[in-house]
Amino acid sequence: MSEAQFQIKNKNILRNLDPYKLRQDFPLISKKLEGKKYNSNNGHLVYLDNAATTQKPNAVIRALMNYYENDNANVHRALYELGDRATQKYEESRKTVAQFINAKHAREIVFTRGATEAINLVASAWGRKHLQAGDEIILTEMEHHSNLIPWQLLAKEKKLTLRFIPFLNNGTLNFSRVKSLFNERTRLVAMTHMSNVFGTINPVRGLIRMAHSRCIPVLLDGAQSVPHIPVDVQYLDCDFLAFSGHKMCGPTGIGVLYGKQEYLDAMDPYQGGGDMISSVWLEKATWNEIPYKFEAGTPNIAGAIGLAAAIRYINEIGMEKITRYEQALTTYAILEMNKLPGIRFYGIAPERGGVISFSLDNIHPHDMAQFLDSQGIAVRAGHHCAQPIMRKLEIPATTRASLYFYNTFEEIDLLVAALKKAKEFFN
Ligand SMILES: *Cc1c(COP(=O)(O)O)cnc(C)c1O
Repeated sequence: MSEAQFQIKNKNILRNLDPYKLRQDFPLISKKLEGKKYNSNNGHLVYLDNAATTQKPNAVIRALMNYYENDNANVHRALYELGDRATQKYEESRKTVAQFINAKHAREIVFTRGATEAINLVASAWGRKHLQAGDEIILTEMEHHSNLIPWQLLAKEKKLTLRFIPFLNNGTLNFSRVKSLFNERTRLVAMTHMSNVFGTINPVRGLIRMAHSRCIPVLLDGAQSVPHIPVDVQYLDCDFLAFSGHKMCGPTGIGVLYGKQEYLDAMDPYQGGGDMISSVWLEKATWNEIPYKFEAGTPNIAGAIGLAAAIRYINEIGMEKITRYEQALTTYAILEMNKLPGIRFYGIAPERGGVISFSLDNIHPHDMAQFLDSQGIAVRAGHHCAQPIMRKLEIPATTRASLYFYNTFEEIDLLVAALKKAKEFFN
């Protein structure tokens, strides 16, 4: 795409989504901050660490406050009106989540603490019951630690073998190697939908079909995809999907495990306590139905209600508009950053989201992040919870700028200007 073509396309995209208007909904990024470092940004923080967590709109903050001010009671227990109302709101939130990812039933939605807990739930409750010594799990080399360590722990306990789909230099998976990883002992494929280091959107639908043709279930780590692109679990036909509320405008401490009913039904609980039981004797108990079987103890009621508010907020904007806007913003960022001599990108997949890992000259990523902070710009530097990626690339860390719909083209210009300054400062 030429730059002229790009500008025209941009204008059309900006007509559909106005980041300046949307920013007003987010107190933390719309308020003016004291401090010299924000001067060139018109007194605002340039927040480019959305792959770590996103900012929260008023709609979500208000939903949390409203719950505690007006509806607070424990769920599934109380025989009084307030308790009914809390239960109703909690269960409505489950329906909102189910609709958002197009699950067949709300009972296929299990509330967890986040993507990490959702994946651990599958490793414990499904893996412990269904896997035996010698069985194999296929992962990729680009997994977040959250979709790697639970399987390592299980592999150690059960003597399983983990196999890995390798990635290529451009940050895409090497599909020529996939077929040879499957064999008669393969029991599960667990992989990220979108990489939190490269930004690559993996072609998971094809892989799911391939696995299903061998009757092997697939778990998707949707922590980065669900907040940014439309995800339809029936279209993808994944068997499990894990994601977090806090990376999609929702509160921390709430996440989701989607599981097909047949899989959830066939799993035993992995935590015991209140709410997950049907009948209890001193020596034994029977389990509640799904999803309650997997929600032991008092759940994060406010968090679930806050997540539903985040989903309503995103739906109001429109996920397709969000995706298109972020794609334009990402393309612009890469075009502009690419003009800097000495820039190096990690991950240049054609199908990608707004996660941009890079280095500049020989500036250490931590120095870079600190310098950008001195310019009022928040980015992440480090291994991004994916140390095996760093080892394979033979680098200690990358700097990562990650975008969301409230980021503006102007903020990209500020980032590029700050990167130019960094070159002068460090060289
Ligand atoms: C953030 C992230 C996780 C973990 O999410 P938590 O909210 O920390 O549980 C897992 N996978 C990917 C790809 C992520 O980006």
